[in-house]
Amino acid sequence: MTYRKWYRLITLLALIGLLRLVGIVLAPKAAPLKIIGIVIFVLSILLIFIKLRCPYCHKMIPDVRNLHYCPHCGKELDLGK
Ligand SMILES: [Zn+2]
Repeated sequence: MTYRKWYRLITLLALIGLLRLVGIVLAPKAAPLKIIGIVIFVLSILLIFIKLRCPYCHKMIPDVRNLHYCPHCGKELDLGK
């Protein structure tokens, strides 16, 4: 999966996790919502550190909007594994 696909997937997961956490505030007694929201949110944070890296120099690039090349090594990001 390319860097951009991981970026989109992780952003989606973080949004779903955040919506679940908001659901906890609106419905505090909903225990399953709490667990699912926390798990999804923590998973998305972990994926940021594991997957949002340059496929060439492996340095972290947490935001790729309007970014086509790695700011560290200058290689094209879409050509990653
Ligand atoms: Zn790089």
